[in-house]
Amino acid sequence: MDIMQPIEMVDLKGQYRKIQPEVEAAVREVLASAQFINGPAVAKFQASLEAYLGVKHVIPCANGTDALQVAMMALGLVPGDEVIVPSFTFLATAEVIALLRLTPVMVDVDPEMFLLTPEIFERAITPRTKAVVPVHLFGQSCDMSPIMQIAERHDIAVIEDAAQSIGADHISLDGTRRKTGTIGRVGCTSFFPSKNLGCYGDGGAIFTNDGELAAKIRSIANHGQSRRYYHERIGVNSRLDSIQAAILDIKLRHLDEYCDARRRAADAYDAAFAGLEAVRTPVRAAHSTHVFHQYTLRIVDGRRDELHAHLTDAAFRR
Ligand SMILES: *Cc1c(COP(=O)(O)O)cnc(C)c1O
Repeated sequence: MDIMQPIEMVDLKGQYRKIQPEVEAAVREVLASAQFINGPAVAKFQASLEAYLGVKHVIPCANGTDALQVAMMALGLVPGDEVIVPSFTFLATAEVIALLRLTPVMVDVDPEMFLLTPEIFERAITPRTKAVVPVHLFGQSCDMSPIMQIAERHDIAVIEDAAQSIGADHISLDGTRRKTGTIGRVGCTSFFPSKNLGCYGDGGAIFTNDGELAAKIRSIANHGQSRRYYHERIGVNSRLDSIQAAILDIKLRHLDEYCDARRRAADAYDAAFAGLEAVRTPVRAAHSTHVFHQYTLRIVDGRRDELHAHLTDAAFRR
């Protein structure tokens, strides 16, 4: 056991060393420009991300939690509206629903893939259901084709939580690929440092192909302004700063390479764990590529905590 070493969840220091000259030059450029909020760096990153995702509108904002909140505000959801949300997600997905005094309807996920399924979604619909939040947890897409069909039939807005899945493709039955976060009415992501596309602070973005909704989102994220000092609605102060945008514009160029490296690591783990009866490795959906934001094992026979204690002990005994 003394060969065991703790492994970083994500090696941000090693990643930084590889792109350090590019990043430092870009940050210095922002510092010299003194355009820290809504500067040209934000517009540039926004355009880069729109092109990468193949989506009409990207609205950068302050973090992924705000992205979800602003999206829900822009959709005009009001107290009493039910929002279907998986109970197995990061807290923020449900937190903003409660914050806006909407009614979170917590549902289970598929135990193999940790995702909301069309069947679970459909069963939870009531006459008060106004929105659903498929969370593309751990880096692969929910089964979006049937989810979109059900949502359309019941006039339910689909808000994708793509905080863990940026770069992952949803693959429909005819083979069409679309980036997660660009399929529903609106998609949300986070640039928290440890996310697959992470900045060096907080950041987030909202995606939509609906121009009218995009304008509303942009306004809400900036104090409800339509133009400077014309505040048409109640909004919030949620903007991505220029330094983070400049860093993200560089890291976006490497995103596919980062996702490939994660997939190679996942393949290596799959091979290493093959044949271990007690360990269930991640199940890969046919309707999605996987960007492995997390590589999550399931341990059978209720021995998860035992394994956790064993590994913790081995890592810290040294
Ligand atoms: C990280 C995350 C968020 C929130 O993003 P922040 O930028 O940390 O606010 C929301 N949903 C999921 C699934 C996440 O993983």
